[in-house]
Amino acid sequence: MPYTTLLWLRNDLRIADNPALRAALGRGGTVVAIHLNETDPSLRQRGAASRWWLHQSLNSLADNLAKRGIRLETLEGPAEATVVAAVARHGAQAVVWNRRYAPAEREIDAAIKQRLTDDGISATSYPGNVLVEPFDIETKAGFPYGVFTPFWNALRARDIAAPIATPEGGSPLVPQTVDRAYRTPAWARKLAQHWSIGEAPARERLMAFLDGDVATYPERRDFPADASTSKLSPHLAFGEISARQVWHAARMQMDRAPERSEALQKFLSELAWRDFHIHQLYHRPDIATVPMQPRFAALEWRTSANDLRAWQRGETGIPIVDAGMRELWETGFMQNRVRMLVASLLTKNLLLDWRLGEAWFWDCLVDADEASNPGNWQWVAGCGNDAAPYFRIFNPVTQAEKFDPDGSYVRRWAPEPRTPIVDLKASRERALAAFGAV
Ligand SMILES: Cc1cc2nc3c(=O)[nH]c(=O)nc-3n(C[C@H](O)[C@H](O)[C@H](O)COP(=O)(O)OP(=O)(O)OC[C@H]3O[C@@H](n4cnc5c(N)ncnc54)[C@H](O)[C@@H]3O)c2cc1C
Repeated sequence: MPYTTLLWLRNDLRIADNPALRAALGRGGTVVAIHLNETDPSLRQRGAASRWWLHQSLNSLADNLAKRGIRLETLEGPAEATVVAAVARHGAQAVVWNRRYAPAEREIDAAIKQRLTDDGISATSYPGNVLVEPFDIETKAGFPYGVFTPFWNALRARDIAAPIATPEGGSPLVPQTVDRAYRTPAWARKLAQHWSIGEAPARERLMAFLDGDVATYPERRDFPADASTSKLSPHLAFGEISARQVWHAARMQMDRAPERSEALQKFLSELAWRDFHIHQLYHRPDIATVPMQPRFAALEWRTSANDLRAWQRGETGIPIVDAGMRELWETGFMQNRVRMLVASLLTKNLLLDWRLGEAWFWDCLVDADEASNPGNWQWVAGCGNDAAPYFRIFNPVTQAEKFDPDGSYVRRWAPEPRTPIVDLKASRERALAAFGAV
């Protein structure tokens, strides 16, 4: 029987810098790629915007794989049973994948590796999705990092592995489209006008950013009307480009344009937040549900379905917040400063539980990420490990004056005058009292 390797793709939907793909090709014989819509109850199921992106991304990947003679099968079911059935169907002797780091995912992967090994099938995993694997970096005392700056200092001192070249060869197959539909609501389809999805657009976006907007990144990244950040987050979330590719492309740019070094360094430090949150998630399975600082479990949140709905729909009457929430609904994206402002309004001024906001973002963001989303929500709410102190409450009016000084961002997304649903001063005092009580 010819040698067959199954390449199990997950959040690494690319050909370049894909260690598992390289390993699969290195074994010779036939390679069959699979992607699973995993139905295991321990896994967090994707939100709507994310499902929409995934479907487009798989189509693009299927095409790229077909050009190299590899067929992509999209499957659905509990991970272990589905992988084992695929191995049997193809008579595969080996399965390879790149590692993922959420505790529930690791449990599943470990069980599958054991099962395959017991069945006499080779099962091998590789590092492909982070700069440094979360178990490979620790404080001098041997603990996980809970604070970003020392984590960043340790990470930047490392030699980050260079990306692997794009594999050549293979006899092209007829172009493929993905047969499995990821059910997405009608609203998600309008996101298409804002994004180009797949590996080539991700690389183009990176190169355009490094040749252009990165020069002003430190000064302008907080100005939402500029839209001058890289917008790589959804491409990174699905692995259409790897963090190592971004890292090394930026380092090369530093050599080519030393006058941009400082700006590039700032950009890389932001990229490192992605690894930092993955590091947190690796050590804390419950970061989407439990405050990392236990004392905040006692906080008495308000409940108000009306206020929550007004926030979700961009109808709070606070212009920059409404602009952000509408941009999110229309595009699946929101710039980082505005994410902080809307999260602060929800958790502090409206005193609504950060988990409600996290869940809304999870459903609406095209870059929804199991580590970065709860990690950042905990940061803004003040209950994360390395969080903003709870008493630092953003004033969305002065923030808008500073970061949207000519009002062009607000005019674009929420132009009409409205009455605020909350008094900023009184609600700030209420938040200080509630947070202070814990
Ligand atoms: C409440 C809240 C929720 C968030 N949810 C997510 C999420 O689900 N997924 C997500 O990728 N980011 C999330 N972020 C972080 C950040 O807002 C986005 O990564 C960033 O806005 C993406 O835009 P960009 O690619 O242009 O970023 P750039 O400024 O160009 O940064 C480059 C890359 O660095 C990484 N990065 C930058 N800032 C952060 C950060 N604070 N945390 C983690 N990674 C970072 C991202 O991968 C990003 O693509 C959240 C932030 C907040 C305040």
